[in-house]
Amino acid sequence: MVREVQKDNVVRFQCEECGLLYVEKDIAEKCQTWCAEHKSCNLEITKYAIEDSSNA
Ligand SMILES: [Zn+2]
Repeated sequence: MVREVQKDNVVRFQCEECGLLYVEKDIAEKCQTWCAEHKSCNLEITKYAIEDSSNA
């Protein structure tokens, strides 16, 4: 399951594998599925990411 993140009073959806945030839950789920299977990111999916919060 993707994680729901409240940010600026808006809910975003985070891929728990790579940490990228998405507006669309649907896309976040695709990202998470891809990341879990391939252990890498799919540019066709990550281009929809709104923020990279994994640089911690
Ligand atoms: Zn991901």
